[in-house]
Amino acid sequence: AGTSQFVVVANRLPVDRVQNDDDSSGWALSPGGLVTALIPVMKDHGGTWVGWVGSADEHIEPFTFDGYGIMPVDLSAQEFNEYYEGMSNATFWPLYHDCVEHPEYHREWWDSYMEVNQRFATAAAEVAAPGATVWVQDYQLQNVPALLRQMRPDLKIRFFLHIPFPPSELFMQLPWRYQVISGLLGSDQIGFQDPGSARNFAHLVRRLAGMRTQGDRIFSPDGRVILARAYPISIDAQEILDLSRTPQARAEAEQLREDLGNPDKIFLGVDRLDYTKGLRHRVRAFGELFTSGQLDPMRNVYLQIATPTREGVARYQVLRSIIDEMVGRINSSVGRIGRSPIEYRHASYPKMALAAMYRAADVMVVTPLRDGMNLVAKEYVASHDSDAGALVLSEFAGASLELKQAYMVNPYDLNGMKNQLLRAAGDTHANHVRRMRSMRKQVFRHDIDAWANSFLTDLGTERPV
Ligand code: UDP
Repeated sequence: AGTSQFVVVANRLPVDRVQNDDDSSGWALSPGGLVTALIPVMKDHGGTWVGWVGSADEHIEPFTFDGYGIMPVDLSAQEFNEYYEGMSNATFWPLYHDCVEHPEYHREWWDSYMEVNQRFATAAAEVAAPGATVWVQDYQLQNVPALLRQMRPDLKIRFFLHIPFPPSELFMQLPWRYQVISGLLGSDQIGFQDPGSARNFAHLVRRLAGMRTQGDRIFSPDGRVILARAYPISIDAQEILDLSRTPQARAEAEQLREDLGNPDKIFLGVDRLDYTKGLRHRVRAFGELFTSGQLDPMRNVYLQIATPTREGVARYQVLRSIIDEMVGRINSSVGRIGRSPIEYRHASYPKMALAAMYRAADVMVVTPLRDGMNLVAKEYVASHDSDAGALVLSEFAGASLELKQAYMVNPYDLNGMKNQLLRAAGDTHANHVRRMRSMRKQVFRHDIDAWANSFLTDLGTERPV
């Protein structure tokens, strides 16, 4: 295999294994904005994607797919437990989301994480051409930049963090705080979702690494100037709008409305079943609104999609049963047979089905306790060409910095959230239109292509990719 001028390193590969009709297996592109945005760049530059295939204890040889390289990194079952479910999803994930659940610190998880990061870095070093650009993605691989630089100082190393970067008061808990900061500082460019995250990082760099910073530039003692700033990620807005305009989406939206009993208002939530998404607070708010009659349980429906996620991690199992129990209790106390005010689905849906739900929803409810961006909020906005609809949005989602005309809530303030839900549902058509128009303009202007471009061309005097 040859080497590439453009290399993406991410925990997951951009392809999933699929079973063909004749029972042989092949590969198909995974859905998702990042993959969609980077594939054209991969094709233009003969790129290679380094990542894990998604199943443990399996070895797969490098191959090419649709004109670019796929470089699989293997994980053992033990590494899956320690590096992925442990260090990534039970340490970094809660720590970086403002500790809404307690992060766990285990030395064996850290050792496994470093070993796996070394393996990703070695794979990237192997496929990168001299002077190539390597773009490392997300919190599972924060030490890849420095490990890679040690082997290949000729490379342009870029890093993007898809989740928030926490304030130093929280980050300082991390027993390996200095190593993680040093790992990231192996990059030439570090991207964050919001300016607050970039400021938190710069503050820690001064405090822990003793480096000088100026605005979004960090001065490393080896003479490098590292760019650390915000590039808020986005969606393929046109694609979701096109999808929501198809006859199938229109028909599914109609059918959904009917299946829900043609309510006055449909409230919709679409989230992974993750404790950062604020589901407990949200379900509680709806429970109180239905119980008090401020929302008539016979004429309004709250449809909540909760996508299964990280089911091997204990916290997620606990959350699942709490939400199940809360929804059951509310429905039995205020619903009647055949008519539940909360329609709760623990399942994952294809984009077409989501487009139909976005179309059918009068009020989209996005109330995470902390979220790097929240793409669902942007997808809802992009899919509404009718100018109707309303978005209730947490001020702790990165998206709130762009979607300023949403009905903003502090999800910890139950009364405030209840008031905003009622306000969003009861506002005038003219106000809905005014708000949606301005948010739609923002989402279409700053779509996923604009994001990838601004990231990849922003390296001071350096050439783009
Ligand atoms: N999504 C999906 N099927 C589902 C639920 C969600 O395809 O059943 C997609 C959704 O369209 C969005 C993404 O998953 O693009 C979720 O992104 P977001 O930033 O909202 O949250 P995350 O899951 O990344 O924390």
